Amino acid sequence: MRSCFLVLAFAVLTLAQPRSQYDLLISGGMVLDGSGAPARRADVGVKDGRITMVGKIGRVEAREVIEAAGLTIAPGFIDVHTHADDIWERPLAENFVRMGVTSIVAGNCGGSADDVAAALARAGEVPASVNFSTLIGHNTIRRAVMGSENRDPTIAELTKMKALVWKAMADGAVGFSTGLQYVPGTYSRTSEIIELARVAANAGGLYASHMRNEGTLLEESIQEALRVGTEAGARVQISHLKVDSPSRWGASQKALAMIDAARARGLQVEADQYAYTAASSTLGIRFPSWVLEGGQPKIQERLSSAETWPRIKKEMQGLLAERGLKDLSFARIASYRADPTLNGLSIQQAAERLKGSGSPDAQLETARDMMLAGGASMVYHFMSEIDIERIMRHPYVGVASDSSVLAAGAGVPHPRGYGNNPRVLGEYVRVRKVLSLAEAVRKMTSLPAQHFRFPDRGLIRPGQAADLVLFDPATVGDTATFEKPHAYPNGIPYVIVNGVVVVRNGQHTGAKPGVVLTSAPAAR
Ligand SMILES: [Zn+2]
Repeated sequence: MRSCFLVLAFAVLTLAQPRSQYDLLISGGMVLDGSGAPARRADVGVKDGRITMVGKIGRVEAREVIEAAGLTIAPGFIDVHTHADDIWERPLAENFVRMGVTSIVAGNCGGSADDVAAALARAGEVPASVNFSTLIGHNTIRRAVMGSENRDPTIAELTKMKALVWKAMADGAVGFSTGLQYVPGTYSRTSEIIELARVAANAGGLYASHMRNEGTLLEESIQEALRVGTEAGARVQISHLKVDSPSRWGASQKALAMIDAARARGLQVEADQYAYTAASSTLGIRFPSWVLEGGQPKIQERLSSAETWPRIKKEMQGLLAERGLKDLSFARIASYRADPTLNGLSIQQAAERLKGSGSPDAQLETARDMMLAGGASMVYHFMSEIDIERIMRHPYVGVASDSSVLAAGAGVPHPRGYGNNPRVLGEYVRVRKVLSLAEAVRKMTSLPAQHFRFPDRGLIRPGQAADLVLFDPATVGDTATFEKPHAYPNGIPYVIVNGVVVVRNGQHTGAKPGVVLTSAPAAR
């Protein structure tokens, strides 16, 4: 009898309890709303995954209150250039969330899931801590239709590739990407890219390009990307804009002027950038593209032949000289499966260890041995701070990492995957004053959200998805270095995705509230 009464009383109490007005109340912080407007003191109320109130809220019912005095509240960072294609293998995506990234775009540089419908279904079934979207990659569909052949497609093959782009767009891809420095995309002509980008554009997608060349032929490559956008009627995203050859340092001025001129003509072209003087890519990219034709057995045949190897070596020396590089000492090994003890060494150091000499010739021989053993992932130190800062100041260049979802402690990857956004906020905003904090946040939020058409992301406004990052502008910064990349940043105590706290007091909560994002149709 008595227990029955207690149960009843409890039920009445539960019913009488009003639902909290907010699930989350962020109180007393400075809001940078992502538009580029200066910071203002405001509270942010979140309910059912959305921002419902921005302003003075005071003391009201909330399931969780975050005291944000001294902190900046920004929209969650949107990283439009990632290689997080297998996010379901590490759905906590800790390297991304710990740097404030709440949404990512995969499928870049021409490499994506073959089947976008299956990939997005999988991302829905195994939710991640960040929101996920993908492009459809040119190299992926070209390989599916033509293998790695160095020739033009037949009409039938081109039709097949167009159908694959069309299907991927219908399945939810946000655009079409190329990786024209890689096999097999490097064998394609501009006309092929235009045909395929037009299909994506007609479905509302953009064209994202890792260009054919980012140094010796930088201007020609930008010209090609702009031509594709113009002739295909596509919005253009130039991926990881940089000047990657010492002989061309300073060329960012021309590159940005070309982008400005195209924008003045009406082309919607933007770019993204990571804040480091080193890139990361394959070892194969250092070899002439004809060497890489036809897959590993053919590569091995050419590298082992007494006839072709001297020719390859000579071409490689020529390519290096054109770039203003005397040898391969600018190249460091990030991940070499055949011998992980070499990870972290430069090719010069590896040559010293393996061949007893670090001479330019021994370095080329070492690179050959590594290709014969299956290749490696590399970090390339060949950019200048002057170009990085100039590119960063451009109002239509956003911030993106080019990183994958990293496994803590594995290999010696590029530190950008742990530190890119906080490095911009700490090193480039606070220390060097290259740009204002409000502008840096805009480049990480509303700029990419609008170009990629994620209309309910990238701003702190009522009705927007509650993707938020709270950071301390006085301490935010990267700690990951090229020597010790597996290090999380400082000064980012809270990250919220769709109204759910994924980082609390600087620690991942284990929550996985990410959803699949697709582009909104164009406004008519
Ligand atoms: Zn790339």
